[in-house]
Amino acid sequence: MKKRLLFLGPPGAGKGTQAELLAAAHNLLHLSTGDLLRAEVAAGTSLGMEAEAVMASGALVSDELVLAIVRSRLETQAASDGGGWLLDGFPRNLAQAEALGQLLEELHQPIELVVLLELDDAVLLQRLLGRGRADDNESVIRHRLEVYREQTAPLIRYYREAALLQSVEAHGTVDTIAARITDLLA
Ligand code: AMP
Repeated sequence: MKKRLLFLGPPGAGKGTQAELLAAAHNLLHLSTGDLLRAEVAAGTSLGMEAEAVMASGALVSDELVLAIVRSRLETQAASDGGGWLLDGFPRNLAQAEALGQLLEELHQPIELVVLLELDDAVLLQRLLGRGRADDNESVIRHRLEVYREQTAPLIRYYREAALLQSVEAHGTVDTIAARITDLLA
């Protein structure tokens, strides 16, 4: 079974929900840079204070900052038992993807599969508006979708060319989508 995975897709596609389910079912480390950043903000660390305003605007926090977080977690995981992981919300742009590739080469742990969750903008907007997170008001949501299209969507081509990408339709129930993803892991 594939156990080094990356989830790609627009905000609201259900990456977090699906990543959490899959990680629990297969004992993978679920690494969500959004969750980790929100935890830093909640704890009032200097990293959190640096990230807070940027997150509230829907823009991306600096590559250095997220890379430092991801690097330390992946190094720990590689050192512990070489167990699998699932990256959710990272990488968000080409520079992050390239830095990740380099890090994984150092760790001798290449990505085995990139899952692209696909969903219409209209449905995304509805889901995000219903979620009630601090950065989920309409103008911030529109900005996050724009940031996704401009900075993150180019990764689709990047991972497709690396022959790592598989698409999943992200409509239907949580269980239906989870089953579609599980089919790709065999
Ligand atoms: P998410 O929970 O993945 O939607 O992330 C929430 C917010 O955290 C984003 O809108 C960004 O401001 C920030 N963020 C999360 N992951 C990253 C990342 N890989 N690079 C830069 N900013 C990020």
